Amino acid sequence: MSRSILKKILRKTNKSGTTNIYKKIYMILPCFHKKVHFIFQPYLFLIKLDLTFFIIFYSFMLFIREKNGFYFGGFEEFNDSSILSGFSILKSNKDPLNFALHTDDNESFVLSCREKFFKSLSINPKNLISLIQTHSSNIFIPSIKDRGKGSISLTDAPKADAILISIPDIPCMILTADCIPFFIRAKNSSIAGLVHSGWKGCKEKILLKFIKILIDKYKIPPKDILIGAGPYIKECCYEVSEEFTELFPKDFFKTRDNKIYFDLFKASIYDILELKIPEKNILNTNYCTCCNKEMFPSWRRDKTIQRMASFIMIKS
Ligand SMILES: [Zn+2]
Repeated sequence: MSRSILKKILRKTNKSGTTNIYKKIYMILPCFHKKVHFIFQPYLFLIKLDLTFFIIFYSFMLFIREKNGFYFGGFEEFNDSSILSGFSILKSNKDPLNFALHTDDNESFVLSCREKFFKSLSINPKNLISLIQTHSSNIFIPSIKDRGKGSISLTDAPKADAILISIPDIPCMILTADCIPFFIRAKNSSIAGLVHSGWKGCKEKILLKFIKILIDKYKIPPKDILIGAGPYIKECCYEVSEEFTELFPKDFFKTRDNKIYFDLFKASIYDILELKIPEKNILNTNYCTCCNKEMFPSWRRDKTIQRMASFIMIKS
């Protein structure tokens, strides 16, 4: 069944209100596609013999769920008895869901989105830590007294682009609309976090800085570090100028139809490969925010004021 036929069914069922089963199928389809893609990808890597040879995407570990009318996705490896995490998904491209207080949107509307979405996940929205993100390499490590900072106002929000938690019951959120929301956790240990990585954060090596803290300060062995990239603008859509190519090594760019495209994921994880984190520990949803208008906001596609939420919390 093609996506267009499914879309028609989806529209009909929504109008009649009889069932939303087709909607669920439609949202799950890209996952199956990625499974097939995954099977052949290692062979393609062998042929290509470039940097991607070293990167294996385990996208089959991805899930999409609906809870109390809200859709969210995530990695199975980041959801068990000790941790809860995921990212928001729009019900359709007309869904006004927005989590950002810093963009030009109605404050009470944004707060109601935060409240409804997180309550549906049994997370107290008042405990949420939300950052003021400035494309820096600043990492915020909260104590229990920081719980709730940035949840209802920007005035007490910490200025940082990553958050590292080792205390239970502190839900954290980062906001994106094309940049990569990285989920990070240490296996067999209650340490986790989120990293916001756009090209500026990537240039500042924010992910490398974060992982080095886990290894050096928290003594986590590299083999126990899991990294998952949520939805972001992929190289299919991330067109850049000629001048931009001077900022990163050539390996991170591809040219199609005389246009240059940037691989933000490859650039973001390149530095951490030297830390001997096993390739199988690096996960990717493989969702492009710009391609999937039904599911995610994209600043490059729409110049939108919407931001999706990526969240993580250590359970008590
Ligand atoms: Zn795309």
